[in-house]
Order: sequence, then C-alpha cells, then structure tokens
Amino acid sequence: REVIVNVQGDSLDRSGVVALVMHDVTEAHRVEAVRRDFVANVSHELKTPVGAISLLGEAIEDASGDADAVRRFAASMQRESKRLATLVAELIELSRLQGAEPAPPQTNVDVAEIITECVDGIRAAASAKNITIVKAGEATVSVPAVRAQLHAAVSNLLTNAISYSPNDTKVGVTHRVLDGYAEIVVKDQGIGIAARDIGRIFERFYRVDPARSRSTGGTGLGLAIVKHIATNHGGSVDVWSSEGDGSTFTLRLPLEPAIPADGGPDEEPH
Ligand code: ADP
Repeated sequence: REVIVNVQGDSLDRSGVVALVMHDVTEAHRVEAVRRDFVANVSHELKTPVGAISLLGEAIEDASGDADAVRRFAASMQRESKRLATLVAELIELSRLQGAEPAPPQTNVDVAEIITECVDGIRAAASAKNITIVKAGEATVSVPAVRAQLHAAVSNLLTNAISYSPNDTKVGVTHRVLDGYAEIVVKDQGIGIAARDIGRIFERFYRVDPARSRSTGGTGLGLAIVKHIATNHGGSVDVWSSEGDGSTFTLRLPLEPAIPADGGPDEEPH
C-alpha cells in the first residue's frame, strides 16, 4: 500500500516517517473494521424483514380458512415489504452519495420552497400526533444544490423531529442567511439525545433505541444520508440536544457553489 506523506521537502526524519506509516496502517485497519461492521449491519437489517415476510407467507397459508387472520397477516406482510423497500432505497441513495456515481447537476434551489414542500409532505404524520409545525424565516434564499437531495435532507430531519417527539408538541423549522451560508434549523420538543450517543447518531445504522426507531419505520440511515448530502454540497449538519429536552439540527449550505468534499466509499461514516 502506497503511503502518501503530506510533508514539504525532506525535513521529516526517519522516525517521523515510521510514525506516519504506522498511523496509515492503523487507519487502514479502522476503515476495514468500519466496512466489516457495515456489511454485517446490512445483512442483519435485510434478513429481518425478509425472514418476517417468509414467516407471514407461511402463516397465511396455514390460516387460509380464517379470513380475518389472513387479512392481518397480509397487512403485516405489506408493512415488512415497505420496510425492505425503504431500506434498499436508502442503501442505494447512501452508496450514490458516497461517490459511487457522479453527482447530479446542481441548480439554484429556493430554500423556503423546499421547506414548504417538506412540511406539506409530513403534515399527515404530524397531525396524527397533534404536533404543530411552526415555519419562520427569510422569504428568499437560494442555494446551489441537487434539488432532490436538499429535499431529502430537510425531509429526513423533519421526519425524525416528528418520530422522536411526544404528542401535542411543536416542531420549528426556520431558515436564514449567516456568513455566506443558508441555515435551516429544525427544532423539536422531543425525547432528546443523551451526551453519550450524540457523537454517533450520524453513523450508518446507529440508533439510540433500535426498537423505537424500527417501530416508527426508521432504518438508522437517515442522518448518515443527511450528513453526506451536507458535505457533498460543501456544507455541514450539526446537532444540539439534551436528553428529555428536545433536539435542534442545523443544516448549513454555502450560498456559492462549493467543490464537493471527498466522500469516497472508504470515508469514515460519521
Ligand atoms: P432512524 O431511521 O433510526 O431515525 P436516523 O439516522 O435518522 O435513523 O437517526 C439515528 C438515531 O438518532 C435515531 O434512531 C434516534 O435514536 C436519534 N435521533 C435522530 N433524530 C432525533 C431527534 N430529532 N430526536 C431524538 N433522537 C433523534
């Protein structure tokens, strides 16, 4: 494996080179471990709905005399198939974002318009929990972006805000311009995230409470996707949260076109 030593001239002594080589080997092992974990996670996550669908198929066969049971099993089967479809779609999206394909072209995207579309898209889920969505922000801000990706990022943050909030709360979504960036802030009054978890939530498949995430149809990939979308646009996504006190996610996108960050397949997942 070739080691690229990013040092000008030959001012580096031998021990320095050895240290850099060792660092590189450690990094390679770490990347390999991350990849192995990812593959194991993917296999596990795919096996769960596939196994459930297969069992439900058997149950339907056995219950053919009982129309009510057949309907119930069929409904569960549809839910599991939907979960599988979402998971596959998100894995494909993540692999695209990690540089498997050239990025689609960017256009000038109106931030307020995207927020309105995303809010409209989750209105039904919000009203089912009696959650009020409060929108605020400057009327005209646009950023160079892949429209569908910006939509997916904001939509993911809003979906999480609804999923991880109790009934009868508020979700705020605001936007503004600050220091050459458009900022989109999604703030909820939900369960919040403990300090021990906060550094890991942008990792692929990391969930604070896997059972809760699954019960709301979560895949554990949403925030990894948001993070890749942000960095691919030369921006960032940050979170502030305290357990039981709600969370605030801030997505920042440059107002001027940015050179995409290197998001190669070996990149650290968070
Ligand atoms: P998921 O599909 O599980 O929601 P994400 O990647 O979107 O996956 O989020 C990862 C984890 O981060 C979630 O499982 C949840 O534990 C935590 N999380 C994300 N958004 C919020 C939020 N708004 N409030 C509390 N916890 C959150």
